[in-house]
Amino acid sequence: MHCKVINPILKYAHKTANYRFFRALLVTVLFLTFSLPFSLQAQENTLQKLTTAERSDGKGQVIRFHLAQAVDSFQVYQPDPDLIQLTLYQENIDTADINLPNISSAFDEISFYDIPAGIGVDIYITEGKFYDGKAYHDGNSNDLLLGLTETEKSELEYLTKDTEPIIWSSFTITEQNLLEGNGNTPSENSDYNQTRDKMKFDVVVIDAGHGGHDPGSIGYRNVQEKNIVLEIAKKVGGYINEYMPEVEVVYTRDSDEFIELEERGSIANDAEGDLFISIHCNSHTTRQPNGTELYFLGLERSESALEVMKRENKVVRANNDIEQRELSQEELLVYELANSSYITASEQIAGMMEYQFDERAQRHSRGVKQGRFVVLYHASMPAVLVETGFISNPSEARYLTSDRGQSYIASAIFRAIRNYKESNGN
Ligand SMILES: [Zn+2]
Repeated sequence: MHCKVINPILKYAHKTANYRFFRALLVTVLFLTFSLPFSLQAQENTLQKLTTAERSDGKGQVIRFHLAQAVDSFQVYQPDPDLIQLTLYQENIDTADINLPNISSAFDEISFYDIPAGIGVDIYITEGKFYDGKAYHDGNSNDLLLGLTETEKSELEYLTKDTEPIIWSSFTITEQNLLEGNGNTPSENSDYNQTRDKMKFDVVVIDAGHGGHDPGSIGYRNVQEKNIVLEIAKKVGGYINEYMPEVEVVYTRDSDEFIELEERGSIANDAEGDLFISIHCNSHTTRQPNGTELYFLGLERSESALEVMKRENKVVRANNDIEQRELSQEELLVYELANSSYITASEQIAGMMEYQFDERAQRHSRGVKQGRFVVLYHASMPAVLVETGFISNPSEARYLTSDRGQSYIASAIFRAIRNYKESNGN
């Protein structure tokens, strides 16, 4: 040590009989001085900034809390239509240097308070705006998302009438607060992130729509959707086995059996799939419409997309009862908030498949669209639904029931999968 301050101390210490003792003391003091702040810093969770974004359906806003670590849990209270209060539970959340948005049309003011085991947040909503607030962990980062859904004033007044505002200075943590905290625990969240990190593109899940007592659409000369899509699904799997042997193929069904829509997603999730492809045939009340369509999860924006969505969310029960499944806009919002990266990837693969249909298989492509498909919602991975053509159109029905037609469609799907895999560095 050649530091000028330390040397005289050492010289003095050297003269004493307790030199070794002083040296040990000095080393300890230096160690504590330099190491302690670092170990404290490591435990601190910085709330770096808030950003806001319009919701994709135009019905509200999303406020993103950019956090260095995911919080243990959180809770949202809405005591008045114009006040949303949040508790974020975790020791040492640092809000000192937070960067707030300059302008937001959703709120006027935001304040942070220290509370036992976390922080409290007051968000004062802009006059004349009425939002119902719900918070979610972002599935792809440590951030917390507060979704603000536009709501009727009267409904919000009713919802908030029994809730008292929290006075942060007298806020005490209760077991109830912790129990009601609705977040995932950070350990679950980091497991989840680890799963994503090790993600290598090696499992494709192929879902042949319908099956068993659910025939799907019935087309020209009574051809059944369930049979055509099973053949195409097996062909896609066959191409993957042959040309990408490093990729495992998982089928949700490989025979004429009925599988629930949720079950298809569970099969895909259990297999840790990297891509989910649901294969279907379109139909129409008239014979003219033809062509392929690609769908990924989102809010349908056209009447025709709405019809396809309704048909594919329909389940035929063993007793021939028809059950119409639904995905609410709220559920869709939750998915969008938690799985934004899957949606981006789904749109990408849908675009690649469309290119293959249009340019390579010489099919008439009706484009890439969005819809609230129950089967896509349950698969936690990039997921697309392929409408391979209209079996209500005589010429397309012939094409889709022929071995050649099925092979063309399957190879177009396969090439898109291969391009997607390669474009993602796998
Ligand atoms: Zn279908």
